[in-house]
Amino acid sequence: MESIVVQAPSGAYNINFGPEIWQQVEELAKGYDQALVVSDKNVAPLYGDRLPFPIYTLEPGEETKNIQTIAEMVDEWAERGLGRYSLVIALGGGVVGDLVGLTASVYRRGIAYVQIPTTLVAQVDSGVGGKTGVNTPRGKNLVGTFYQPWGVYIDPSVLSTLPEREITNGLGEILKYGVIQDPALFQVVQEHISDFYDVDLRIVGPAIRRCLEIKGDIVGADELDEQGVRRILNHGHTFGHAIEKATGFKRHNHGEAVLMGMLLEARLSHLLGMLPSAVLQEIEGALFRVRLDYSFEHLDKDEVFSALHEDKKNRASKISFILPREIGRVEEVLLSAGEVEKYWNEVIRP
Ligand code: ADP
Ligand code: ZN
Repeated sequence: MESIVVQAPSGAYNINFGPEIWQQVEELAKGYDQALVVSDKNVAPLYGDRLPFPIYTLEPGEETKNIQTIAEMVDEWAERGLGRYSLVIALGGGVVGDLVGLTASVYRRGIAYVQIPTTLVAQVDSGVGGKTGVNTPRGKNLVGTFYQPWGVYIDPSVLSTLPEREITNGLGEILKYGVIQDPALFQVVQEHISDFYDVDLRIVGPAIRRCLEIKGDIVGADELDEQGVRRILNHGHTFGHAIEKATGFKRHNHGEAVLMGMLLEARLSHLLGMLPSAVLQEIEGALFRVRLDYSFEHLDKDEVFSALHEDKKNRASKISFILPREIGRVEEVLLSAGEVEKYWNEVIRP
């Protein structure tokens, strides 16, 4: 199948797609003096044997995404003699991808790595774009770099072993791509939500591909997230991040929080007179088809607003929201906390 080219200013690379990726990675690795797969304890037993290389296995879960793991991984890589002509293969979800990307960017001032994302969210989003990072007690992804992989290799069939909640997690970003840029994608996905849970590859495969085309274009235009082009990817994320933070990053995974954020931001857009009610209903209809409980009672409003105040995207003490104007078109709006607070009770209504 044809690959998608990401034209990042730091260099172009391909997103390869389909069952033949394992063979392609094996071929690629032949050009290096050695290759090491890094994975986690859930993914390694399932898919590790598809590649004939040694494998280093991390503990699964967000808790592993810390500086300590990087230090351990650097020791491990050095012990195995990985050098400037070695290749590291990240096989796993966002946690593995972020950790390997960051370590590869600093190990011996940077070595080659590729991504084989195995979760839905990593396949459509975090595996592409070159953002790496780990958490510290002070914040999520507080330490990170921009470091594009040498290639991204996606086999959607690995999604068949994902837990249901991980499908929901990915649907957040997929519906987001529809709302920000692609009405046709939005329609297909919302009509086929249950096919995502069943991992019907006839639906899921093309949807992933489309998301990657959109993300590839956006990242190519704004690799380092500085021109505002990439900012539209933050639809659903202003409220979404605030919800994650207000609940200590424990209760909701990222995609769930993004789905909740998309609901709140669509309603906010409507209340501001930017989104007709028919379109709001369509967005709500799609979101409610996802297997997620959209209740907001557990949220502490003060915690949410204090998180909104700390949002990286804020400018001139206003909060940045990427709000839908129609399906396929969003617009940035800067609002004071007071303006948002006025609508809070209405946007969280059941
Ligand atoms: P993300 O959702 O950001 O990609 P993780 O890397 O933490 O986050 O992955 C979520 C969970 O799913 C982890 O427990 C991981 O081990 C597991 N996982 C990843 N890919 C697969 C897969 N293809 N099949 C089964 N479990 C998987
Ligand atoms: Zn996101």
